Amino acid sequence: MRVLMIAPPGAGKGTQGALIAAHLGIPHIATGDLLRDHVARQSDLGQAVQERLTRGELVPDEIVVEMVREAWLDAKAAGGGYVLDGMPRTMDQARAIHRIARELDMIANVALHLKAEDDELVRRLLARAALEHRADDTEEVIRHRLALYHDVTHPIVDWYGERGILVTVDAMRPAEQVGREILTALEVMRPLVDFVPEEARRPIDLTSLGAAFGEAEASARPPG
Ligand code: ADP
Repeated sequence: MRVLMIAPPGAGKGTQGALIAAHLGIPHIATGDLLRDHVARQSDLGQAVQERLTRGELVPDEIVVEMVREAWLDAKAAGGGYVLDGMPRTMDQARAIHRIARELDMIANVALHLKAEDDELVRRLLARAALEHRADDTEEVIRHRLALYHDVTHPIVDWYGERGILVTVDAMRPAEQVGREILTALEVMRPLVDFVPEEARRPIDLTSLGAAFGEAEASARPPG
């Protein structure tokens, strides 16, 4: 299965990406981890991107696009499946990797969108900051990363919806519940993705069942 993830910072992309990869036995390609690893090793690339990472800015497209191309070549040799986490983050990146994916026969068949509210995301990221000391987990930089997500990343979600490969999950709940829902959805889709063309599929939104049962969305959640 070939899965890409679109989610705001703090929604749990890394955690769920690792879970999916382990469950399906496919590589987890996380652009943020790859970049942080370059910074930790102080490679030329790491030195070039370090400051942008710390400020919560996006690194130049050429860098991440090439990174994903190389990771896809390895993933292809390993069987062809992957979970891509952290990419695309702009419409330009979405187009660029779509082109490369077509060349390599590695086009994603599921775009997993993790949905969560900003206040909860800030709360989680600040809690993580206390434990992990990631350079970009200060409140000011977190707000900036969230603003970037809303401005340039979130609009891509609709594109995947139109292509029929979108699955949206409510990521406000505990990681374990979110993970269970994701794996269930992927297991159900597994036999379909290779045989049902994208044009014949419809986006799946697992976040709004409450509304469908006559329940107001806000009351579907416990307070706080
Ligand atoms: P988060 O989603 O919590 O911000 P990531 O680990 O996915 O965390 O990304 C951390 C940082 O790495 C981003 O703020 C950005 O600087 C850089 N980065 C990761 N992926 C990309 C990408 N596709 N394009 C540009 N910059 C990226």
